[in-house]
This record gives sequence, C-alpha cells and structure tokens, in this order.
Amino acid sequence: METDPPPKSWSIHTRPEIIAKYKVLERVGSGAYADVYRGRRLSDDLTVALKEIHDYQSAFREIDALQILQGSPNVVVLHEYFWREDEDAVLVLEFLRTDLATVISDAAKERTLSVGEIKRWMIQILCGVDTCHRNMIVHRDLKPANLLISDDGVLKLADFGQARILMEPGFDASEENLQQYEHGASNLESLLQHPEALPQKNQELGPVGHAEYFEALEKLRMKSSTEDIPDGNTSCLATCTTSDIDDDILKTNFSVEAMEGEEGKELGCLTSCVGTRWFRAPELLYGSTNYGLEIDLWSLGCIFAELLTLQPLFPGTADIDQLSRIINVLGNLDDKIWPGCSTLPDYGIISFSKVENPRGLENCLPNCSPDEVSLVKKLVCYDPARRATAMELLRDKYFDEEPLPVPVSDLRVPLTRTGEDKGSPGGWNEYNGMDSDSDLDDFGSVNITRTGTGFSMQFP
Ligand code: ADP
Repeated sequence: METDPPPKSWSIHTRPEIIAKYKVLERVGSGAYADVYRGRRLSDDLTVALKEIHDYQSAFREIDALQILQGSPNVVVLHEYFWREDEDAVLVLEFLRTDLATVISDAAKERTLSVGEIKRWMIQILCGVDTCHRNMIVHRDLKPANLLISDDGVLKLADFGQARILMEPGFDASEENLQQYEHGASNLESLLQHPEALPQKNQELGPVGHAEYFEALEKLRMKSSTEDIPDGNTSCLATCTTSDIDDDILKTNFSVEAMEGEEGKELGCLTSCVGTRWFRAPELLYGSTNYGLEIDLWSLGCIFAELLTLQPLFPGTADIDQLSRIINVLGNLDDKIWPGCSTLPDYGIISFSKVENPRGLENCLPNCSPDEVSLVKKLVCYDPARRATAMELLRDKYFDEEPLPVPVSDLRVPLTRTGEDKGSPGGWNEYNGMDSDSDLDDFGSVNITRTGTGFSMQFP
C-alpha cells in the first residue's frame, strides 16, 4: 500500500529533525543562496550557525567541499547537515562572529592595522587556501567577507557554495612533490607560531606544487575541456544584455563587438557569475570556462592589497569597468605578457584603447614596502601560470622578516554579529552595496551601432 509522502516543511523553524536537536535563534545573515541563523545545540548549548541553502547546486558544492576539508584549521567546521529530497539543505556550521571585511573596515576607520597583524591574517588566509588547493578545490569566491574569524582570532575560509573540486581529492602526489612538500612544511613550522594556524588534516596528501598542479590541471583540461565549469559564464559579455544599453555615453576606453546569430543570442542571457567582481580574475572577465586554482590566487592578491591599503584594489562598478580598471593598472594585454590570452573567448570581442602609461601596482600600494608590493605582484599578474601558489607565498621571506607576524592571540578581533537580524555588520554591508553581480546595472549605458559582423557597443 502506498503511503503519502511526509508533508514538506518550508521553514527551518518547523523542521522536526532540526528542532529536535537545535534551538533556532535569530537570523544573522543572508546571502545570494542562503539564510543563516544562530542556533544552540540542545545537547551541550554549543552556539552554531544554521545555514539554510535554497539552491541545490550550491548546497551540494558546499557540503562536498567542506567534507573534504574537514579538520583543516583555517576552514569553517561543518558539524553536520540535514538534507531531504524536496527540502533545502541545512548545514550546521561553527558560529563565527566576524570576518576580514569588518577587520578592514574597522582598521580603515581607526587607521590601525600593524604589519605584524597583516602578516598573521595573510598567513592564515594562505594556509586556508593552500589546504583547498592541495585538495584541488577551487573556492571561486574568495573575498574578505567570506573569510570568517573566531573570537580568538582564527581565520576560516567560508561560503563554499561556488567551490569546485577539480579532481578527486588525494590525487597522486608524486615523489618529488612530496619532497617539495616536506621542505615547505618544515619552513612553515618555523613560520607559524601557533598550532591552530597550521594545516593539520589532509597534510598527508602533500601539497600540489606549482608545476604539479598546473600539470595536473592541464591533464584535466585535456580530459574534460568541454564539461569544465559548466555553470555560469563569467565574462563581461555574459552579464551584458542589449536591453542594458541606451544612448548615454560612458567615459571609458573600450569597445565591445557582439555577434549576431547563436553567439549573439547567448549574449542576451543574464547568467550567474563566479566570484565577486572586485576579486574576479581577468581570465573570468574574458569569458574563460577553462580556468583553475589560479583564479583564487588573483583574488588572494586583491585581498592582500586591500589588507595593506585598507581600500579595495579594483572596485569595479560593472564587469567591463572591472577589466578597464585592471588594464589601467597593469597595461594592455597581449600574447607576450600572457601567452594564450588571445584565445580567450571574449578577447577579440572586447577591445581597449592603448594605455600608454599603466599606473602600475606599486602606485596602487602607497606606503607599502618593496616586499609587500612584490608579494601582491606575484598574485595580481595576468598570466595565471605565473601566479605564485599559496605554498610558495607561505615560504616568502616577507613573513620571516621584522616585524614578525603577531601571535594569533594578539590579533584584534572586532566584536560583531551579535545576533541582530540584518545582513552583516559594519563594512561588510557597505561593500556588498557596491558589489552587484549583474553587469552594466550600475554602469550606465553604451552607444550601439551596427557593424558588418553584428553590432558594436561603443564606450568612448
Ligand atoms: P551565501 O552562500 O548565500 O553567500 P554566506 O555563506 O555568505 O551565504 O552567508 C550569508 C551570511 O551569513 C554571511 O554574510 C554571514 O553574515 C552569515 N554567516 C555565514 N556563515 C556563518 C557562520 N559560520 N557563522 C556566523 N555567521 C555566518
């Protein structure tokens, strides 16, 4: 005899399996795909975050990545999750009261973030990213607001809703790779004064060295280039629709040539974007669907620059503006600077006029030491293959030199997220407000003219 399926529960507050174990308290935040509540575990009064994820794929990614990364000190802890067919997944996460965006905005108000503190925040971020990358997990949305911080100063990567696993975890680390790892790990130990900041679990896998991971990535690309990263075209054009266009003229220096026919139709689609714009790598902005761990390294460079200057490095107001800002600093790109860039899907479609005197990263980092500038330059560079890996940066002499990184326990942690029902505290909200993911929304509009091949959007 057929029995009726149990009634669907639409609210986290009424789901029996959850309320049997947790008291659901106030909502502490909501993101693109999720609502997050503070909760209390009934068995031991532990404060937790209950993250109700409304998007299947995002839930799947987050659970998958967090399970692989379980035990990593610089990744948010997933205690358990609830997920039944036809219901939103609810993840039970450790509750973390603040984040790096708040640290930066507080410091910007008071102009107080010491070099020792900056170094310790950087080391923790690098450890978290290194753990992800050793497991071939690309986070794809690294930004200060997704770097959560515990009351005792431990920084943890969070929001893995966009993460992708590029290959099976524990992929065969070669002998040399392991040797390289051991060398790295011993340096690392002297570097890190606090065990809580050390990668623990998954260490036995060995890190993926620079050459190895690109090699592995290349193999993966050969194997599955067509199915690579199928979701969300992230190029400037993917988020640009002709309906966004009107007669106003923009004061910028590029043009976009759009095609008719099938490609033209695709341009009309508004699609989701990977990574928040300000931290999005140029290969994504040029429409690459064949990218890898390196996109996180670009984001890391932008985060480090922001930690050093307390201001976002490339605060683009639209995706094309984002690219324009990057080009104004790093200069125009060609196959000499970035071999293969001319094969990027949108390379021939978006063109910028010649930037005679690129500003240069050093000029975006006033009052920074040459070592700091060099650190950012190792990450914020066009050619993804030239970006330094997290492990390489952990060995950078910058972290061994005076002023040394302060102990984690000496980090000043803002007291935020006290439980009011609002998005997130402090600077976080300010940033999100400027951080829309749909292109040309706040950008204004462009001139459109017909050309032989289709139409051209002109940004004078
Ligand atoms: P989305 O995947 O929708 O972007 P997020 O993971 O960014 O969702 O979470 C949305 C908000 O919830 C965050 O901005 C933050 O304020 C809060 N939040 C997320 N995870 C936690 C956590 N572990 N502890 C405390 N607050 C959290």
